[in-house]
Amino acid sequence: MAETTGITRIAVQVVGVSMPGNWDRPLGYTGNKRYVAVYWDCSVDDVYITDGLVGRSGGAWWLYANLVDHDARQQISATLMACGVSDPLNNWPLGGHETYATHGLILDRFEHSLWVAQLSNISRSLSLQHLSSGEDIGTITMSLIREKDALYKDLVIRPNIPCDCARGWVLLSDYYMPCPRCQRSGKIEVIPEVVTF
Ligand SMILES: [Zn+2]
Repeated sequence: MAETTGITRIAVQVVGVSMPGNWDRPLGYTGNKRYVAVYWDCSVDDVYITDGLVGRSGGAWWLYANLVDHDARQQISATLMACGVSDPLNNWPLGGHETYATHGLILDRFEHSLWVAQLSNISRSLSLQHLSSGEDIGTITMSLIREKDALYKDLVIRPNIPCDCARGWVLLSDYYMPCPRCQRSGKIEVIPEVVTF
């Protein structure tokens, strides 16, 4: 169960939603912690996923958008109201193009369940996942900020076209598998055509 990191004390479960296995992978998460938080980061206008230590943007934002805008919008809205948000549909608290998130989704990667909680509670609760490795929360918070900055500095532009998968992952029934076409890069390098006569 979820008691080890206190998720059940700070979050409300989204009832009636079962997430595809590996849903976090196309979103950009590469770690192995049980809980990750997902929300829209207004500062970069992109989906953001974090386990409390390592977080990143640049993932398959449309999977997140499909979930919150279509597939589970009613269930997530009801859960937000259970978290005390009075009018979630008109005052969307998970972040947007011009509004900073006050709440986030928590994905239980082991149980494939989805939860909602306030961001301030999420960050501390997720940080507790890492305490067994002997790091204190201050160090974790700093490394989270560093990681995010480093990712943006590492952006390299190469000639390529987007693969039609989800950022390097393809959905097989209810589970995401690495895409064989682009080798998980999400991009297919453009090979210049050689014209011969
Ligand atoms: Zn692909």
